[in-house]
Amino acid sequence: MDRMKKIKIQNSNKEFTVGKIVCVGRNYAEHAKELGNEVPEKPVIFLKPASSLIFSGDEIIYPSFSNEMHHEVELVILIGNKIKNAYADESEKAIAGYGVGLDMTLRDVQNELKKKGHPWTIAKCFDTSAVVSDFILKENYNLTLEEEISLTVNGEIRQKEFLNKMIFNPVELIEYISSLMTLEEGDLVFTGTPKGVGKVNKGDKIYAEIKGVAKLECTVN
Ligand code: MG
Repeated sequence: MDRMKKIKIQNSNKEFTVGKIVCVGRNYAEHAKELGNEVPEKPVIFLKPASSLIFSGDEIIYPSFSNEMHHEVELVILIGNKIKNAYADESEKAIAGYGVGLDMTLRDVQNELKKKGHPWTIAKCFDTSAVVSDFILKENYNLTLEEEISLTVNGEIRQKEFLNKMIFNPVELIEYISSLMTLEEGDLVFTGTPKGVGKVNKGDKIYAEIKGVAKLECTVN
């Protein structure tokens, strides 16, 4: 039972047991460009295991097989009920809440995998590679996408963008993902990172925030 990870809700005793973690890549045009990628016609989708997940206040551990771990700050959506092949209204209703998260990525490993045409698993699924804040319930917060998402390392701003710069919005993403696989209560959707990704080093302190929604902090070790 202790394998189960729980999503905490702000100002509430409510908890959600984490299921799968679905991640979206290249969902901000400027970020796709900074890594030399095309802007996709459909969302790029990959998974992280629940075992990779940690929470605000925990430590991100540098794996022995990388020298270039990058931060990627992202809006994270908490799924509240089971959906499959959902239309937009059903997708919208399946959103239980919002948080901020880090999709930590081993860029050196990912570049090698990309060259070989291999899956990104080794670069994306290591322990502590997914970090999330406490979540705010959708019933208590109306996300307009005019919110700003930001990340600092040791107090220095690295990423800062408005959520409305996303290519595919949360409802479009959920609609699309639900056409590929069933989404269930407790699943998380990482919605992609804006421009400004970069390397972190051991000892760095990361702070991430979506104004009015959620915040998290952690150190790298
Ligand atoms: Mg990402």
